[in-house]
Amino acid sequence: MTTTPRPPAPRRLSSLLINVSTLLQEPIGSLREFLLDDAAFSHDGERRAVDGPLRLLRTDQSLLASGWLGIAVEDICGGCLAPLALRLELEFDEEFWPPTDALTGRALTPPPERDGFAVIDGQIDLSEVVRQYVEMARPISPRCGPDCPGVGASAAPSEPPTDDRWAALSALREQT
Ligand SMILES: [Zn+2]
Repeated sequence: MTTTPRPPAPRRLSSLLINVSTLLQEPIGSLREFLLDDAAFSHDGERRAVDGPLRLLRTDQSLLASGWLGIAVEDICGGCLAPLALRLELEFDEEFWPPTDALTGRALTPPPERDGFAVIDGQIDLSEVVRQYVEMARPISPRCGPDCPGVGASAAPSEPPTDDRWAALSALREQT
């Protein structure tokens, strides 16, 4: 009877700055599994918590970071301009490139179709990835809820008329 070795439990991380110097010296296909737990991210001057699984895979030359992260941010209702809390899901596959190949020491230049982020001093910093994906995941015009009183409820200037092309884009973004 054979037993399959259980994969190691993901390591809990409370930072978006991750040391990868050991992983870079391991063979292609080496994996690290993490669970981000209350990792601090600065957004609009506030500290936000990032949570969720993260996997780092050693590729031929780079590291592929795959994340399924969640973050709560604040926004403004597009209807009544009331502040509201949004939970955003950030799903990404992004490559991180060290300046030199860890095994040969040769300088690395990412191919144009595989550009990504940089490994700096043996560390990757997911903050920039999170920042970019937050901007992409953020709805163009969030609503506080089905009972939103609408623009007339506030003294703020009304919104310009909605362009149909933006509405289509907005609908597309909500689907994805
Ligand atoms: Zn509203």
